[in-house]
Amino acid sequence: MDYKDYYKILGVARGASADDIKKAFRKLARKYHPDVNPGDKKAEEKFKEINEAYEVLSDADKRKRYDTLGPNWQEQFGPNFSGGGRRTYSYGGGRTPFDFDPSGASGFSDFFEALFGRGNGATGRAAGMGGMREDIRKRTGDSIEQPVEVTFQEAYIGGSRTFNIQSTEVCPTCRGTGEVNNKVCSTCSGQGQLPKSKRIQVKIPAGVDNGSKIRVAGEGQPGIGGGPRGDLFLVISVKPDATFERKGDDLHVDVNVELVKAMLGGEVAVPTPDGRKLLLTIPSETQNDRQFRLTGKGMPHLRGDGSGNLYAHVKVVLPMHLSPEERELFEKLARSRGVEAHP
Ligand SMILES: [Zn+2]
Repeated sequence: MDYKDYYKILGVARGASADDIKKAFRKLARKYHPDVNPGDKKAEEKFKEINEAYEVLSDADKRKRYDTLGPNWQEQFGPNFSGGGRRTYSYGGGRTPFDFDPSGASGFSDFFEALFGRGNGATGRAAGMGGMREDIRKRTGDSIEQPVEVTFQEAYIGGSRTFNIQSTEVCPTCRGTGEVNNKVCSTCSGQGQLPKSKRIQVKIPAGVDNGSKIRVAGEGQPGIGGGPRGDLFLVISVKPDATFERKGDDLHVDVNVELVKAMLGGEVAVPTPDGRKLLLTIPSETQNDRQFRLTGKGMPHLRGDGSGNLYAHVKVVLPMHLSPEERELFEKLARSRGVEAHP
């Protein structure tokens, strides 16, 4: 992580006045603005750098903090700071779009973030900076997490859901800054955004499991200053099923088999979560609890092709309510196998 000389970047002296800094920034920003230099990566980098320098030097608190760093700047971050390390953020939950930027597109350097924290750059501090600030402050909106419960069958074959998304839109009056001519925007009461509800239909892919996150691009909170919207994440929970047990993408199901069929062999019907039955041929003398693999008949893999396996566990069912004739047959069988059986 490199130390950034913000004064040098703006080409001003360390003692420069707020006015000088503003003038220097405006001049450079006009020169390196992406609109003036389309597709020019170098100009874009420079523009970001200028922007960052101004973010710090135009803010009395930030400037003071930066100035006190001096040559020992690296120690200021503390022993546990690993340069460039990203902290973990959770999504959602009553944040404003100003708070943070999950996409990492804030445009601020690791140096800046180490010094001031992530997302600290765009606190809507637009007062007195004119229209140019709004163009610069393009930020991706927050992500939204939406819990979704699906049935086991839906997890197996996929499904869809229609949602009313409680979202917000950028206030059209102040374009998200919360201020108009240095006064609190009356349309949004200075919030920079207005509540909005919308219906969307989302496909739920086959193979989802508890905790699966389905990303719906661009359906999160609106961006700020014309930045892109955040994403919507569906957080899946799958209702447990009485018939099937899931282990990864493999499924296990118990299949009742009549004693005589287990003894003599034959076809048994194995259910699948979509309501179909698969015919499985079991050999003669199939023992209780023996498992049979039905390859590729388990849960579809959420990522990648193919599916897990379906395992059928044989549960031998002993006959009940024997007729006198059947009873005789069992007695005969008992004698044949030398088994002493008493009523
Ligand atoms: Zn407004």
